[in-house]
Amino acid sequence: MTQTILETRGISKSFGSLKASDSVSIDLRAGEIHAVIGPNGAGKSTLIHQICGGLRPDAGQVLLQGQDVTALSTAARARKGLGRTFQISALAMEDSVLENVMLGALGASGRPWRFLAPVMGDRALRDRAEAALERVGLQDNRQTRTAALSHGQRRQLEVAVALTLDPRAFVMDEPMAGLGAEGSKTLTGFLDGLRDQAPILLVEHDMDAVFALADRISVLVYGRIIATGSVDDIRTNPEVRDAYLGE
Ligand code: ADP
Ligand code: MG
Repeated sequence: MTQTILETRGISKSFGSLKASDSVSIDLRAGEIHAVIGPNGAGKSTLIHQICGGLRPDAGQVLLQGQDVTALSTAARARKGLGRTFQISALAMEDSVLENVMLGALGASGRPWRFLAPVMGDRALRDRAEAALERVGLQDNRQTRTAALSHGQRRQLEVAVALTLDPRAFVMDEPMAGLGAEGSKTLTGFLDGLRDQAPILLVEHDMDAVFALADRISVLVYGRIIATGSVDDIRTNPEVRDAYLGE
């Protein structure tokens, strides 16, 4: 039986009279990339924020490796193995690549710090950061100013930050956003190999990437999942074509 790593059970979230999540149940299994697609405003980011802990659902649960994490903070979820990248990058552009990985790892772990020098002198933290940079192929850029990286390299850097906490699952909100065709292709290849490390819940608009990567796809429309299935199931689903694919 395939193991479920991450799961939402009937989570709902309203903003005033708008139901941005309407009893959303979704599961992420070991070894897979599960893509979430849907039109703008469908509630994809709202779903991701509830999974990561930035937003508290009005109802329902979030489970990580079978444990109810619904009441936990973002940092506590990260410590329990929830790795994420953001729709809007949280990287410090003036800092070096290595500094970003080390500070990101510290921030995500919730450990307080005040001065940069002792952080950068933390041998164990540095070793973990270096290993993560190697894993994403940015080891030769460790001293590079983050602003000088390409968009695609920044996405890889965000993954490196997440890797320092040894994630059991990745959650990504539109990692292809802002990338050109070449960058998307490179990042697609990278994510393809990353699923062996931890499964990925992938919100993405780039349908070439979704069709190339997804083991399963869920379609979100007006806060509700209208279909979950394989790439073929979803491509040929008439309701999905009407609501989103528009072919
Ligand atoms: P998506 O990521 O699929 O484009 P979002 O999850 O960002 O969609 O938004 C879903 C709906 O919820 C949209 O109609 C959006 O305007 C609304 N929404 C999202 N966040 C808030 C918020 N903090 N306050 C009020 N409305 C919000
Ligand atoms: Mg969004």
